[in-house]
Amino acid sequence: MPLLDFKCSDCGEVFDELVRSSDDTQGVICPKCGSNKHERIYQGKCYGSKSSGCTHNCATCSGCK
Ligand SMILES: [Zn+2]
Repeated sequence: MPLLDFKCSDCGEVFDELVRSSDDTQGVICPKCGSNKHERIYQGKCYGSKSSGCTHNCATCSGCK
């Protein structure tokens, strides 16, 4: 399961969350305010791999190279 970084659209909290897949983020809620509105952010850490279909836009990622 990938660990993704999110930023809450309501309160601006930045948090990471384990999700079943990078396309399945609708159940992710902000740990601070409980909002389910968020955007993906990329901090350069990635637990995916190209062979598993990772398309993260993370230049410094060591897992996708
Ligand atoms: Zn929030």
